[in-house]
Amino acid sequence: MSRPQQITVLGATGSIGLSTLDVIARHPERYQVFALSGHSRLAELEALCLIYRPRFAVVADARSASQLQGGLHAAGLSTRVLSGEEGLCEVAGHPQVDAVMAAIVGAAGLKPTLAAVEAGKKVLLANKEALVMSGALFIEAVRRSGATLLPIDSEHNAIFQCLPGDYGRGLQQVGVRRIMLTASGGPFRETPLERLAEVSPEQACAHPNWSMGRKISVDSASMMNKGLELIEACWLFDAKPAQVEVVIHPQSVIHSLVDYVDGSVLAQLGNPDMRTPISHALAWPQRIDSGVAPLDLFAVARLDFQAPDEQRFPCLRLARQAAEAGGTAPAMLNAANEVAVAAFLERRVRFPEIASIIDRVLNAEPVVAVESLDAVLAADLQARERAMHWLNRRD
Ligand code: NAD
Ligand code: MG
Repeated sequence: MSRPQQITVLGATGSIGLSTLDVIARHPERYQVFALSGHSRLAELEALCLIYRPRFAVVADARSASQLQGGLHAAGLSTRVLSGEEGLCEVAGHPQVDAVMAAIVGAAGLKPTLAAVEAGKKVLLANKEALVMSGALFIEAVRRSGATLLPIDSEHNAIFQCLPGDYGRGLQQVGVRRIMLTASGGPFRETPLERLAEVSPEQACAHPNWSMGRKISVDSASMMNKGLELIEACWLFDAKPAQVEVVIHPQSVIHSLVDYVDGSVLAQLGNPDMRTPISHALAWPQRIDSGVAPLDLFAVARLDFQAPDEQRFPCLRLARQAAEAGGTAPAMLNAANEVAVAAFLERRVRFPEIASIIDRVLNAEPVVAVESLDAVLAADLQARERAMHWLNRRD
């Protein structure tokens, strides 16, 4: 076999980052870590550097960089430590990198992910917020640079696996009628509606099937995660929002389905473990061992489905509206959600207020066409300011 592929893992200290490193460690002959990034957990990042010995590490600021650089030098490592968005973009687009795992959470991942795309890398996209925000610009950049974009979100990875290789010709041309995105319904699927105002961040982060970062866990509880995924699916597969149906499937064994005009419905199944989509995307078009246990259908025993209740999950409706409005609406939706989720995690607002903050922001700001990255960033900033202003007035 040829030399190992050089991999940059953005967001290495997070849930997806660690699962990615777990897969990489199983295949040292195939993959080598080129760069790792982490934002706040410096000690964890240092420990990862000692194991994976990357060429570069990237941290939040210059102070953390010199701290980490000192520690790594003392341990005899020649890893160079960079900092900030510039450092992230450098390791994402570095000429020696083959593939980039984009696993920073939220809008902070936009520019580094775009840097990987613009450099024509194989981009493993977990950071859905980047695509939701910049939509057409992102897809246009993929086309221009010839980057290979592979979805890590389990649903989109499942859909990718169920579509024919030439789906880029158009869903209608390849006989697809609908995409069915499955959703677990999160921890509050059956909580009485009147009790939702009392739920805590800990309860929201206790996902029944998946272990994930705090922001995406809250998004799963509100179903904003599925809303963001709906928008993500539209961009990845060139689908209209009306072609994407959300199906609640509490067991999280079917990761999504594709419905064809002849009545065939293809699904991808597996244990809920992100190492499956990560391995799939890393090795694509080949298959490698991910460390995930084989699916035991007898233990699963049954698969249930139900329609989502928009009264319980208003975020899903707001996301669909933003998907249909287009332009800067998804960027505003995402920004308002990031502010609202952070406020909920800090116990400044109650769970149902997440949706009302987003609703206010979307109604207060006009939607404009997305013609440049500056327009996206301006919409993101405006929505954040609007949401913060509302939060501060309310305190
Ligand atoms: P996490 O919170 O566990 O990790 C986030 C990572 O991003 C950490 O390494 C952190 O250091 C880094 N980070 C945070 N803020 C940053 C900033 N301002 N600048 C630079 N780096 C920053 O999150 P996660 O669960 O691993 O999710 C990462 C992304 O993957 C999210 O976009 C999420 O929606 C997506 N995703 C996650 C899962 C999952 O199972 N965890 C599944 C599908 C998609
Ligand atoms: Mg998902």
